[in-house]
Amino acid sequence: MTRLKSRARQLAPKTSSRSVSDPERGFSDRQSTLREAVALEGVGVHSNAPARLILHPAEDGAGVSFYRSDLAGEAAAMGPAAWSQVCATELCTTLRVGDQSVATVEHVMAALAGLGVDNVLVEIDGPEAPVFDGSAAAIVEAIDEVGLRRQSAPRRQLEILKTVRVERGDAFAELSPAASGFTLDVEILFEHAAIGRQRKALRVDPASFRREIARARTFGFIRDIERLWRAGFALGASLENSIAIGDDGPLNPEGLRFRDEFVRHKMLDAIGDLALAGAPIQGAFRSRCSGHALNHAILQALFADRSAWRLTPAAIAPRRGAVRPDIGGLVQLALAPDRS
Ligand SMILES: [Zn+2]
Repeated sequence: MTRLKSRARQLAPKTSSRSVSDPERGFSDRQSTLREAVALEGVGVHSNAPARLILHPAEDGAGVSFYRSDLAGEAAAMGPAAWSQVCATELCTTLRVGDQSVATVEHVMAALAGLGVDNVLVEIDGPEAPVFDGSAAAIVEAIDEVGLRRQSAPRRQLEILKTVRVERGDAFAELSPAASGFTLDVEILFEHAAIGRQRKALRVDPASFRREIARARTFGFIRDIERLWRAGFALGASLENSIAIGDDGPLNPEGLRFRDEFVRHKMLDAIGDLALAGAPIQGAFRSRCSGHALNHAILQALFADRSAWRLTPAAIAPRRGAVRPDIGGLVQLALAPDRS
């Protein structure tokens, strides 16, 4: 991975405002963006294509948008990232708008959600976000290098009003009301001695995300790799960006970063996938053996029931002289039809 900060600094003027990048603080009550652009390089874990990722500051209410800089004209702008754009959930989450797509967005989305970055333009010069070391650590580090800027508009939350649940055999995902904040309770079960049953619960805030989740890497089984390669997946997978699990356990010489790194990575994926709701969730997520498909299905179920959620605060009174947030865009985003 090569950081391209010198180029990134040319992309956006340095702004001066109060920082909200203190890792020990909770989420800001106002929306946040980056103080300046920051760039990273890597390869896509599935495509093996080199890719440059540049995170740009964006205005109040803009949300997280992807931009394919390798494409010309209007095709490049993919608009606000939303669950309704999800077109594939096998092994990674892929967004599609028209003929264009961007794959493996979940770790980028997770880093932004985990640190409370509301508004950002994510520029990628190819069809897949780089995987870096298989976790969100590099993206968190890049965001920390430039810091956050607190904006004028209040943070809106997607409040869960009643329990919604999706099941596939023994697997399930569920969203329930919570008095405050966003909690996860995730359980996984793999019939392999290296993983087995793992369960972890967490209240998500910038400090807990950094400490417990951001460094957990993606993983895969050596026994699956030839099938994946034939299907065009994992072409860029290596011990540099994945935990590779053989018959006797992880093959990575450095070992695991956490004893239960596997469930932590599933939590990272869930945070990223659920960030496609379009606003931070106030609620409790529970899952067993969930992956990208069920994480997407729970958002479909949530938005299919208009009585199961609301955006709070319900209305934003623009302050004198403040930039009015794009309220309509957010509501439209949450209600967008499912095209997957
Ligand atoms: Zn992942």
